[in-house]
Amino acid sequence: MEKYNTFDGHNDVLFRLYLKNHILAYQDFLNGDNEGQLDLPRMKEANFKGGFFAIYVPSQEAAITDSDKPIKYDDMKKDQYSLPLPELIESDIALPIVMRKISLLSQIEKYSQGEVKICTNGEELEQSFQERSLSVIMHIEGAECIDENFYNLEALYRTGLRSIGPVWSRPTIFGEGVPFSFPSSPDVGGGLTDLGIELIKHCNDLNIIVDTSHLNEKGFWDVAKNSIHPLIATHSNAHAICPHTRNLTDQQLDAIKDTKGMVGVNFAPAFLRKDGKMLSDTNIQLIADHFKYLIDYLGEDHVGFGSDFDGAMMPKDLRSVLGMSKLTQLLVDQGFNDNLMHKIYHQNWLEIIKHILK
Ligand SMILES: [Zn+2]
Repeated sequence: MEKYNTFDGHNDVLFRLYLKNHILAYQDFLNGDNEGQLDLPRMKEANFKGGFFAIYVPSQEAAITDSDKPIKYDDMKKDQYSLPLPELIESDIALPIVMRKISLLSQIEKYSQGEVKICTNGEELEQSFQERSLSVIMHIEGAECIDENFYNLEALYRTGLRSIGPVWSRPTIFGEGVPFSFPSSPDVGGGLTDLGIELIKHCNDLNIIVDTSHLNEKGFWDVAKNSIHPLIATHSNAHAICPHTRNLTDQQLDAIKDTKGMVGVNFAPAFLRKDGKMLSDTNIQLIADHFKYLIDYLGEDHVGFGSDFDGAMMPKDLRSVLGMSKLTQLLVDQGFNDNLMHKIYHQNWLEIIKHILK
């Protein structure tokens, strides 16, 4: 079976490596530690050649252990749930954590012997994607580290930051995100603050992608109203199939379609399943179902992957990136033709990034 090169909308491998809390964590990634879902050797084997690498600030800094997952999966196995969100984190707490993750990513690039590149514009990404093992777009999931005067933003841009989600669900000075609730509309809570609208304008001026995943519906519409760029949800699914707060309603999909935007399909069971349950015993057929729905709605050019590898529980067939071959086989078996496969595996993401990051 043909392997398709993959570019993905969202992973949390930097969070996984950060939790190891040791200075040589970058070596674990480059040499392969066989933990979690992603490392360079396994990504190479799976032709997983790039993506948005998320920088996320955990809520509990006191004790960093594996159990400090941002959300509790056991609570998401119930028929209905609505998990309370952690408190806002101040920028002076968040910034050093973000800096450590940027250092980690920089070390991965530096010691990769040219195999890994942090890309800062579309052309560079396209070339790197052809030539290198791994091409990275640096993304901040939750803009806690950015201060109200935006002093940090320009400096973060200089480090290679090219994509920002104003919130990871938890509130920031820029807006509110969705709590993890099922079943529920994403229309929960207020929209962007005045600072949030200013952040969108700064992102537009600097050519930084704005990610609407995790925003509530009011915040989504505020981005739609204020951003000059196509609307992007890097890792969210169709609310019509799985009525979870993290997913996109048909009205939101209309707006994404109108702006020729992009949706990355998330592999986490709670955002795939009709019953919203976070269970690894989940059929990857559901990933195909979300793809079909989104392609019907948005067209072939506006859907890709937003795996959430190393950031969420995965269906059992996708216990690591090596499971991508099973998903590829399934999609081919369901009639996804070669042209469509190339589009959803990487072309659509590369095109929109080229459009925004000129
Ligand atoms: Zn996320």
